[in-house]
Amino acid sequence: MLISVENLKVEYHNGNESFTVVDIPNWQVDKGEQVAISGPSGSGKSTLLHVIAGLLPPSSGTVQVCGCDIGQLGEAERDRFRAESIGYIFQSFNLLQGYTALENVLLGMTFSPRKPQWQAATALLEEMGLGHRLHHCPAQMSIGEQQRVAIARALAKRPELILADEPTGSLDPLHTGEVVAKLRQSCREHGCTLIVVSHEREVVEAFERQVSFLELNHAFAKKEAVA
Ligand code: ADP
Ligand code: MG
Repeated sequence: MLISVENLKVEYHNGNESFTVVDIPNWQVDKGEQVAISGPSGSGKSTLLHVIAGLLPPSSGTVQVCGCDIGQLGEAERDRFRAESIGYIFQSFNLLQGYTALENVLLGMTFSPRKPQWQAATALLEEMGLGHRLHHCPAQMSIGEQQRVAIARALAKRPELILADEPTGSLDPLHTGEVVAKLRQSCREHGCTLIVVSHEREVVEAFERQVSFLELNHAFAKKEAVA
Protein backbone atom coordinates (compact mmCIF):
# COMPACT_ATOMS: atom_id res chain seq x y z
CA MET A 1 0.00 0.00 0.00
CA LEU A 2 1.50 3.32 -1.02
CA ILE A 3 -1.33 5.56 0.21
CA SER A 4 -3.74 4.76 3.00
CA VAL A 5 -6.35 7.27 4.15
CA GLU A 6 -8.55 6.67 7.19
CA ASN A 7 -11.22 9.00 8.55
CA LEU A 8 -9.53 11.96 6.92
CA LYS A 9 -11.09 15.35 7.49
CA VAL A 10 -9.71 18.63 6.19
CA GLU A 11 -11.24 21.87 7.42
CA TYR A 12 -10.70 25.41 6.28
CA HIS A 13 -11.36 28.38 8.50
CA ASN A 14 -13.05 31.61 7.62
CA GLY A 15 -12.96 33.95 10.60
CA ASN A 16 -14.64 32.04 13.42
CA GLU A 17 -16.32 29.63 11.06
CA SER A 18 -14.75 26.36 10.03
CA PHE A 19 -16.03 24.16 7.25
CA THR A 20 -15.12 20.63 6.23
CA VAL A 21 -13.96 20.40 2.63
CA VAL A 22 -12.69 16.82 2.59
CA ASP A 23 -14.19 13.85 4.47
CA ILE A 24 -12.86 10.48 3.30
CA PRO A 25 -13.59 7.49 5.57
CA ASN A 26 -11.33 4.99 3.82
CA TRP A 27 -9.20 4.99 0.67
CA GLN A 28 -6.12 3.14 -0.53
CA VAL A 29 -3.77 3.24 -3.47
CA ASP A 30 -1.32 0.41 -4.14
CA LYS A 31 2.29 0.84 -5.10
CA GLY A 32 2.62 1.23 -8.87
CA GLU A 33 -1.09 1.93 -9.39
CA GLN A 34 -2.29 4.65 -11.77
CA VAL A 35 -5.46 6.40 -10.63
CA ALA A 36 -7.58 9.13 -12.23
CA ILE A 37 -9.78 11.27 -9.97
CA SER A 38 -12.58 13.29 -11.52
CA GLY A 39 -15.05 15.66 -9.96
CA PRO A 40 -16.48 19.15 -10.25
CA SER A 41 -14.57 22.31 -9.50
CA GLY A 42 -14.58 23.21 -5.80
CA SER A 43 -15.17 19.65 -4.60
CA GLY A 44 -11.82 19.46 -2.76
CA LYS A 45 -9.63 17.52 -5.22
CA SER A 46 -6.64 19.86 -4.95
CA THR A 47 -7.05 19.93 -1.18
CA LEU A 48 -6.72 16.13 -1.07
CA LEU A 49 -3.58 16.24 -3.24
CA HIS A 50 -2.11 18.93 -0.98
CA VAL A 51 -2.62 16.69 2.05
CA ILE A 52 -1.09 13.66 0.30
CA ALA A 53 1.90 15.82 -0.72
CA GLY A 54 2.35 17.11 2.83
CA LEU A 55 1.59 20.70 1.82
CA LEU A 56 -1.36 20.81 4.22
CA PRO A 57 -1.75 18.82 7.45
CA PRO A 58 -4.95 16.79 7.91
CA SER A 59 -7.38 18.28 10.46
CA SER A 60 -8.08 14.75 11.73
CA GLY A 61 -7.68 11.14 10.70
CA THR A 62 -4.69 9.26 9.36
CA VAL A 63 -2.90 9.69 6.05
CA GLN A 64 -0.02 7.32 5.34
CA VAL A 65 2.02 8.06 2.22
CA CYS A 66 5.19 6.19 1.21
CA GLY A 67 5.49 4.83 4.75
CA CYS A 68 5.14 8.25 6.42
CA ASP A 69 2.29 9.23 8.71
CA ILE A 70 1.73 12.75 7.36
CA GLY A 71 -0.21 13.99 10.40
CA GLN A 72 2.70 13.12 12.68
CA LEU A 73 5.24 15.17 10.73
CA GLY A 74 6.08 18.79 11.50
CA GLU A 75 6.22 21.35 8.70
CA ALA A 76 9.98 20.93 8.15
CA GLU A 77 9.65 17.15 8.03
CA ARG A 78 6.77 17.40 5.58
CA ASP A 79 8.94 19.63 3.34
CA ARG A 80 11.66 17.00 3.39
CA PHE A 81 9.20 14.16 2.79
CA ARG A 82 7.76 16.03 -0.22
CA ALA A 83 11.18 16.85 -1.66
CA GLU A 84 12.27 13.23 -1.45
CA SER A 85 9.13 11.26 -2.27
CA ILE A 86 6.70 13.37 -4.31
CA GLY A 87 6.75 14.73 -7.84
CA TYR A 88 4.06 17.38 -8.26
CA ILE A 89 2.79 18.49 -11.65
CA PHE A 90 0.66 21.64 -11.74
CA GLN A 91 -1.79 22.82 -14.35
CA SER A 92 0.33 25.92 -14.84
CA PHE A 93 3.66 24.03 -14.93
CA ASN A 94 5.56 26.38 -12.58
CA LEU A 95 8.68 26.19 -14.75
CA LEU A 96 11.41 28.73 -14.04
CA GLN A 97 11.31 31.11 -16.98
CA GLY A 98 14.95 32.17 -16.94
CA TYR A 99 16.23 28.60 -17.18
CA THR A 100 16.41 26.15 -20.07
CA ALA A 101 14.47 22.89 -20.21
CA LEU A 102 17.57 20.98 -19.13
CA GLU A 103 18.22 23.36 -16.22
CA ASN A 104 14.59 23.10 -15.07
CA VAL A 105 14.89 19.31 -14.96
CA LEU A 106 18.24 19.54 -13.14
CA LEU A 107 16.58 21.84 -10.59
CA GLY A 108 13.98 19.11 -10.05
CA MET A 109 16.82 16.86 -8.89
CA THR A 110 18.33 19.37 -6.47
CA PHE A 111 16.49 18.30 -3.33
CA SER A 112 16.57 14.58 -3.98
CA PRO A 113 19.06 12.28 -2.32
CA ARG A 114 20.64 11.81 -5.76
CA LYS A 115 22.79 14.63 -7.08
CA PRO A 116 21.74 16.43 -10.27
CA GLN A 117 22.92 14.43 -13.24
CA TRP A 118 23.15 15.92 -16.72
CA GLN A 119 22.91 12.55 -18.44
CA ALA A 120 19.80 11.45 -16.56
CA ALA A 121 18.13 14.84 -17.10
CA THR A 122 18.92 14.74 -20.81
CA ALA A 123 17.60 11.18 -21.08
CA LEU A 124 14.33 12.16 -19.40
CA LEU A 125 13.79 15.06 -21.78
CA GLU A 126 14.58 12.79 -24.73
CA GLU A 127 12.02 10.32 -23.37
CA MET A 128 9.49 13.16 -23.49
CA GLY A 129 10.38 13.83 -27.12
CA LEU A 130 12.26 17.01 -26.24
CA GLY A 131 15.82 16.08 -27.22
CA HIS A 132 15.84 19.05 -29.58
CA ARG A 133 14.64 21.50 -26.89
CA LEU A 134 17.25 20.94 -24.16
CA HIS A 135 18.62 24.47 -24.29
CA HIS A 136 15.38 26.33 -24.95
CA CYS A 137 13.69 28.42 -22.25
CA PRO A 138 9.96 27.94 -21.55
CA ALA A 139 8.97 31.05 -23.54
CA GLN A 140 10.57 29.51 -26.63
CA MET A 141 8.50 26.33 -26.33
CA SER A 142 4.88 25.44 -27.05
CA ILE A 143 2.52 24.88 -24.12
CA GLY A 144 2.56 21.11 -24.78
CA GLU A 145 6.36 21.09 -24.73
CA GLN A 146 6.43 23.09 -21.49
CA GLN A 147 4.11 20.60 -19.82
CA ARG A 148 6.36 17.74 -20.95
CA VAL A 149 9.31 19.56 -19.35
CA ALA A 150 7.27 19.81 -16.14
CA ILE A 151 6.63 16.05 -16.29
CA ALA A 152 10.33 15.37 -16.83
CA ARG A 153 11.13 17.62 -13.87
CA ALA A 154 8.67 15.78 -11.63
CA LEU A 155 10.14 12.41 -12.65
CA ALA A 156 13.74 13.64 -12.31
CA LYS A 157 14.17 12.84 -8.64
CA ARG A 158 12.69 9.39 -9.13
CA PRO A 159 9.82 10.01 -6.69
CA GLU A 160 7.76 7.13 -5.39
CA LEU A 161 4.60 9.09 -6.15
CA ILE A 162 3.58 11.58 -8.83
CA LEU A 163 0.61 13.85 -8.17
CA ALA A 164 -0.71 15.67 -11.23
CA ASP A 165 -3.38 18.32 -10.67
CA GLU A 166 -5.22 19.03 -13.95
CA PRO A 167 -1.98 18.44 -15.88
CA THR A 168 -3.62 18.89 -19.26
CA GLY A 169 -5.77 21.89 -18.31
CA SER A 170 -3.61 24.27 -20.33
CA LEU A 171 -3.10 22.00 -23.34
CA ASP A 172 -5.03 22.04 -26.56
CA PRO A 173 -7.02 18.83 -27.09
CA LEU A 174 -4.57 17.63 -29.75
CA HIS A 175 -1.79 17.29 -27.18
CA THR A 176 -3.82 16.04 -24.24
CA GLY A 177 -3.81 12.34 -25.14
CA GLU A 178 -0.14 12.39 -26.03
CA VAL A 179 0.96 14.07 -22.78
CA VAL A 180 -1.12 11.71 -20.64
CA ALA A 181 0.23 8.68 -22.51
CA LYS A 182 3.82 9.87 -21.98
CA LEU A 183 3.19 10.54 -18.30
CA ARG A 184 1.68 7.08 -17.78
CA GLN A 185 4.39 5.30 -19.72
CA SER A 186 7.19 7.06 -17.83
CA CYS A 187 5.60 6.29 -14.46
CA ARG A 188 5.33 2.63 -15.45
CA GLU A 189 8.95 2.52 -16.58
CA HIS A 190 10.23 4.25 -13.45
CA GLY A 191 8.06 2.22 -11.08
CA CYS A 192 6.28 5.35 -9.92
CA THR A 193 2.70 5.47 -8.56
CA LEU A 194 0.51 8.06 -10.32
CA ILE A 195 -2.54 10.05 -9.27
CA VAL A 196 -4.04 12.39 -11.85
CA VAL A 197 -6.87 14.82 -11.14
CA SER A 198 -8.81 15.91 -14.19
CA HIS A 199 -12.27 16.93 -15.27
CA GLU A 200 -11.54 15.95 -18.89
CA ARG A 201 -13.24 12.74 -19.94
CA GLU A 202 -10.50 11.85 -22.41
CA VAL A 203 -7.89 11.95 -19.63
CA VAL A 204 -9.91 9.98 -17.07
CA GLU A 205 -10.95 7.28 -19.52
CA ALA A 206 -7.30 6.46 -20.27
CA PHE A 207 -6.98 5.00 -16.74
CA GLU A 208 -8.02 1.56 -15.55
CA ARG A 209 -8.84 2.89 -12.09
CA GLN A 210 -11.21 5.85 -12.17
CA VAL A 211 -12.40 7.45 -8.97
CA SER A 212 -15.42 9.73 -8.75
CA PHE A 213 -14.52 12.36 -6.19
CA LEU A 214 -18.20 12.93 -5.42
CA GLU A 215 -18.43 9.34 -4.18
CA LEU A 216 -15.06 9.38 -2.44
CA ASN A 217 -15.54 12.68 -0.63
CA HIS A 218 -18.46 12.58 1.79
CA ALA A 219 -18.10 16.27 2.69
CA PHE A 220 -19.06 17.32 -0.80
CA ALA A 221 -21.93 14.85 -0.98
CA LYS A 222 -23.36 16.30 2.26
CA LYS A 223 -22.99 19.88 1.04
CA GLU A 224 -24.81 19.00 -2.19
CA ALA A 225 -27.63 17.30 -0.27
CA VAL A 226 -28.18 20.44 1.82
CA ALA A 227 -28.03 22.82 -1.15
P1 ADP B 1 -11.03 21.53 -6.47
O1 ADP B 1 -9.57 21.30 -6.64
O2 ADP B 1 -11.85 20.29 -6.54
O3 ADP B 1 -11.55 22.58 -7.41
P2 ADP B 1 -10.27 22.78 -3.95
O4 ADP B 1 -9.63 21.72 -3.13
O5 ADP B 1 -9.36 23.74 -4.62
O6 ADP B 1 -11.28 22.11 -4.99
O7 ADP B 1 -11.26 23.61 -3.03
C1 ADP B 1 -12.32 23.02 -2.31
C2 ADP B 1 -13.08 24.08 -1.55
O8 ADP B 1 -12.26 24.64 -0.54
C3 ADP B 1 -13.53 25.25 -2.41
O9 ADP B 1 -14.79 25.65 -1.98
C4 ADP B 1 -12.50 26.31 -2.16
O10 ADP B 1 -13.03 27.59 -2.33
C5 ADP B 1 -12.12 26.04 -0.71
N1 ADP B 1 -10.71 26.39 -0.42
C6 ADP B 1 -9.63 25.98 -1.11
N2 ADP B 1 -8.49 26.43 -0.55
C7 ADP B 1 -8.86 27.17 0.53
C8 ADP B 1 -8.16 27.90 1.54
N3 ADP B 1 -6.82 27.96 1.55
N4 ADP B 1 -8.89 28.53 2.49
C9 ADP B 1 -10.23 28.46 2.51
N5 ADP B 1 -10.95 27.77 1.59
C10 ADP B 1 -10.30 27.15 0.61
MG1 MG C 1 -8.22 22.04 -8.08
